[in-house]
Amino acid sequence: MRIYADNAATTKLSKTALNAMLPYLTEQYGNPSSLYSFGQKAKEAVEDARMRTARCINAEAREIIFTSGGSESDNQAILTAAELGKAKGRRHIVSDTIEHHAVLHTLRKLEKDGFDVTYVPVGANGIINASDIKAAIRDDTCLVTMMYANNEIGTVQPVPEVGAICRERGILFHTDAVQAAGHLPIDVLKDNIDMLSASAHKFRGPKGVGFLYVRKGIRPYVLIEGGAQERGRRAGTENTAGIAGCAAALCEAVSGMAENAKKTTRMRDRIIKGLSEIPHSALNGDREKRLQGNVSFCFEGIEGESLLLLLDDMGISASSGSACTSGSLDPSHVLLAIGRVHDVAHGSLRLTIDEDLTEEEADYIVSSVKEVVSRLRGFSPVWRELCAGEREFIL
Ligand SMILES: *Cc1c(COP(=O)(O)O)cnc(C)c1O
Repeated sequence: MRIYADNAATTKLSKTALNAMLPYLTEQYGNPSSLYSFGQKAKEAVEDARMRTARCINAEAREIIFTSGGSESDNQAILTAAELGKAKGRRHIVSDTIEHHAVLHTLRKLEKDGFDVTYVPVGANGIINASDIKAAIRDDTCLVTMMYANNEIGTVQPVPEVGAICRERGILFHTDAVQAAGHLPIDVLKDNIDMLSASAHKFRGPKGVGFLYVRKGIRPYVLIEGGAQERGRRAGTENTAGIAGCAAALCEAVSGMAENAKKTTRMRDRIIKGLSEIPHSALNGDREKRLQGNVSFCFEGIEGESLLLLLDDMGISASSGSACTSGSLDPSHVLLAIGRVHDVAHGSLRLTIDEDLTEEEADYIVSSVKEVVSRLRGFSPVWRELCAGEREFIL
């Protein structure tokens, strides 16, 4: 059996998205900036995609900037607020401790540049408290940036509450919605979102393309200089095929959202129930307020890395922490932020499933993880010490 359970890292391209892309990879290869009709055909495709993308989040077409993906969108959004803030002498930003590195590293760069950033802590359930965000806001705050849903532990954040707080105080609100777009209903107007990042490959679109929503009236910082594309807000010849695929995938995900969420939630809960039977284990992140496809666990006395390798041998693709951090020995900043100690955080497993997962596959995942955890504990000196009472169990 071959099971892909790492949809938070990337997803399989949908057939609809592929078919939407194919003409622009073959016959319709014109440059959207060219004036002859051959180029204009490509331009029409980009503008049609922009309109359809905007509709999916209740925005207007002119508020959508197509980018190379989530990381670029996060960078552009934060630098937009920083630039506007600087002009008004406001150099304070509010964020939190469980953001994606695309946000955290951009903030770190701004800190070196004289900005002050408050990182609001999260509760043990991995949810940020809107009142903590409110309390962190100062007179010189120019931006609140808080993700919509977390990529490691799947927790869904109080976006409408934080949006309302920011609007009332006249502060820009950006949300990294890379894990939410196409999976949770998004309404930028209702939720008072000023800027929102999304990435196509997280909702069954192609890799290397995404978008940034910037509310009208906000002048975006130009991250990529060089041409008048995207109305001067992002230079470079448009990725016509990618943009068409991004819009097609998003529309498909949004139209199937309710039904897919129901199916995925049922399988997620089946896996959570099964894995909870493993002694000295714990679910990471809130039990209810979590993405429908996210299962994240810590198992005491094992190394997540070995767990992944053995699961791979059994045909299961999973993750420990996030793909971006694997390769480093540091445990995930998100698991540390929710209070997992280093040893426990090292024994983490993230399974992110989609609507295609069957009941048989869910059961195979559960039995495989159970088997592998107990096999690894059999070799583990730490586990032996725990059982001998020489160390205390934490979970
Ligand atoms: C994947 C991801 C990103 C980065 O998106 P790319 O398109 O891969 O650059 C940013 N934020 C979150 C929450 C993500 O899950």
